[in-house]
Amino acid sequence: MSAQDYASGVNKEALTLQKLIDNRLDSNGAHILYMFNEYDKYINNATDFIAGGIDKADKVILVESQEFIDAVKEKLLLKGYSNNQLESISYICNSDYYFSDRKFNAEDSFQNLVKILKPHIDKKQMTRIWGQVLVENSLVYELRMYECECDKFLGGESILAVCSYNSLTTSSVIQTEMLKVHKYLMIDDQIVKSPFYHQNHLLTISNSERDRLLKIERENKMLKKKNQRLLVDKARQKEREQHLKLAKVNAEKANYMKNIFLSQMSHDLRTPLNTIQGYSQIMLLDNHKKNYQYNVQKILYASKHLLQLIEEILDFSAMESGKISINLEEIHLKTFLNHCVSSIFDTNNSDITVEIENMDDAIFIEADPLRLNQVITNLLNNAITYNKPSGKVCIYAEYDTNNEEMKLYFQDTGIGIQSDELELIFEPFYRSETCMSKWKGTGLGLAIVAQLTKLMNGKYGVISEVGIGTTFWVSLKGLVLTKRSLDDKQTVINK
Ligand code: ADP
Repeated sequence: MSAQDYASGVNKEALTLQKLIDNRLDSNGAHILYMFNEYDKYINNATDFIAGGIDKADKVILVESQEFIDAVKEKLLLKGYSNNQLESISYICNSDYYFSDRKFNAEDSFQNLVKILKPHIDKKQMTRIWGQVLVENSLVYELRMYECECDKFLGGESILAVCSYNSLTTSSVIQTEMLKVHKYLMIDDQIVKSPFYHQNHLLTISNSERDRLLKIERENKMLKKKNQRLLVDKARQKEREQHLKLAKVNAEKANYMKNIFLSQMSHDLRTPLNTIQGYSQIMLLDNHKKNYQYNVQKILYASKHLLQLIEEILDFSAMESGKISINLEEIHLKTFLNHCVSSIFDTNNSDITVEIENMDDAIFIEADPLRLNQVITNLLNNAITYNKPSGKVCIYAEYDTNNEEMKLYFQDTGIGIQSDELELIFEPFYRSETCMSKWKGTGLGLAIVAQLTKLMNGKYGVISEVGIGTTFWVSLKGLVLTKRSLDDKQTVINK
């Protein structure tokens, strides 16, 4: 079977680059256009081409990226070629060769090629050159001019030249034009004679042809821009859909939480009211005023609980609708904490001890006093409620000098929280099942802590170990004063 049969496609068997070279189709050389699709096959083809060149003692030149050169070298070493043989190959980085940082210029690139090949042509040395042409900044007109000059220059010389283009990123306009000026067209696993190659195409490009190419170029640019805009629109659309999805999930969650809240609340609001009504009726019927003190205590306790429930609900709904204003002030932390702790014990006669640990007198934090009191009271109430009998609560602070933040910790020795519930407890109305059956509550306390802390530009968090205890923390902007400025402040603190 003749090489011509291969190249003309008379034979059914696909012609490969190796077979083309082995059949000495072009004893003088060949100008081959390689439109590659698969990078692995591209590397393998290049490796075989170069290995063949080394075997035949041809001069081998590569105009490619460093990544390509490294991959080919590795393959050649695996095939048993020595480092010495690899050193005989000349490498040129294609981004330097094609000036990928500026516009591709046909004349400069062609002169570069002549400079590289001339010495070997003069020595009549068989040469193989493999390069990937970078088309990103190239005008189709310039590229065609360049390949035209190359084809004319290579014709009749003993040079096998493979000009490769990435077919995924090279526009079809460039691909078609390149078929006109390369004798052979190669894809990843076969090679044919280019159906469009013709001597006429190698003549100087006429003005009308030049205008045609420039027009295509302009249209191509416009299409590229349009495509870019479509891609941006598509990305935006995707983003909008994601937002909608998230909003839907959040709305469903909020609805679910609200339903839980309503069923829980109608029960919780009714219980203290029933107590108030029940004991009031007993007192009305009881002429001898027996158990007077006890009954009034019950009424008072139930009404306080009812008031607390109503206040939390009102507070939370005010926060949700953004009706809360925050007035940040510098607050002396030690005085403030002492005040919060003592007011909790005014209304709570539990056996839990609360300690404020080593609180520095010079610490001030930036917060709204009313809201900070709410945050601290909610955390302390929980630390006392969900504690063990005779348990402890410890309050301490740490100063982060870098961020000028004061982190306040509320550590208890209570029942602890399961790790999968740690994120949920800050959600409104969430209560753990163990707590729900044993203690009264709204599931709003921590949601209020979270909202208020954020409104005061702070952060919050929790760590916990079931059966050992829980530590909640809030961090707010803080400062530790020097002795002197502290003395100046003293009068204000003592007020
Ligand atoms: P409430 O206390 O009214 O249930 P919160 O929002 O204050 O509502 O707390 C939500 C849930 O977080 C509680 O029901 C409880 O399960 C859990 N929790 C809060 N603080 C603690 C704590 N210190 N120790 C253990 N569990 C806690």
